[in-house]
Amino acid sequence: SHVADLIAAGEVVERPASVVKELAENAIDAGAAALTVEIQNGGMALIRVTDDGCGIAADDAETAFLRHATSKIRDEHDLEAIGTLGFRGEALAAIAAVSRIDLLTRTPGAPLGTALSLEGGTVVSREEAGCPAGTTMVVRDLFYNTPARLKFVKKDSAEGAAVFAAVQRLALAHPEVSVKFLRDGKQELLTPGDGQLRSAVYSVFGRDLALGFVPVKGSGEDMSVTGFASLPACCRGTRGYQHFFVNGRYVKSRTMMAALEEAYKNQKMVGKFPGCVLHLTTRLSAVDVNVHPTKQEVKFSSDRKVFDAVYYAVLSTLERDHT
Ligand code: ADP
Ligand code: MG
Repeated sequence: SHVADLIAAGEVVERPASVVKELAENAIDAGAAALTVEIQNGGMALIRVTDDGCGIAADDAETAFLRHATSKIRDEHDLEAIGTLGFRGEALAAIAAVSRIDLLTRTPGAPLGTALSLEGGTVVSREEAGCPAGTTMVVRDLFYNTPARLKFVKKDSAEGAAVFAAVQRLALAHPEVSVKFLRDGKQELLTPGDGQLRSAVYSVFGRDLALGFVPVKGSGEDMSVTGFASLPACCRGTRGYQHFFVNGRYVKSRTMMAALEEAYKNQKMVGKFPGCVLHLTTRLSAVDVNVHPTKQEVKFSSDRKVFDAVYYAVLSTLERDHT
């Protein structure tokens, strides 16, 4: 129902950055090799996400905006082993409920694509359209019909910065995807999508900072840790340079943060916060990603194992590279 969509919107769609995260994750789930995120006015006026993924078949275009109609969860086994980024089937419905959307999409096999427009979740126009294979979602006038939510939106610059941070995380989570970001017409990020995390780190952090990042590699019980960590020379006085991922998904994890910082303390590198891009890979059933609608908080079945895996991976890097 429309009310249910609005309630879901309250949980899923907090601000432009959450819209961008959901749309970009859909693009990645669709197998995109390249995706472009464009925003105007911090994303409040316009968000456009373009991908070269599998596209949406004409018959499925409207269904995609129905809550749960297209959930990637088919049975409880899927819930346990979530391999795709989206799994609730409610993001598009939630976003559509509080914005105006233009969808342009074509599957590679179809001669013509579909152009669909929605306002507040209602389809207002639909036609066949010639377009490249893949999907473009344009989200305009976020919260135009929910004035109460507008009060929680910050200045364009702050919303734009949050979008940029979300795009950077996606780029670091998916080095195999070329990610482009444009803010008010100006390109601010382009990753090559060559599958190398180092390339993505270079694009996201810039050459000077990236040069201070050294590779991390280690493994623990049932899990492995790979990525990069900063040598003290490029540590900054903020945790803003710490990026943790579990099975390809950006997470906020006190356990991983503590393990990282303990390893630096062990090496007497104290005083500032280290930076890192660390990917933990583990059996899907060993993590619980279904904790919060925005899916950033994870639960580990064993915090201890995760702590140890991260701690020893970082420690061995520091012992090797810091002399
Ligand atoms: P979920 O990702 O949880 O399945 P969403 O509401 O985010 O739910 O998306 C609904 C459905 O729309 C997806 O399951 C997918 O089938 C389709 N879809 C959305 N975005 C894209 C895209 N960029 N490319 C292809 N299909 C898409
Ligand atoms: Mg999704």
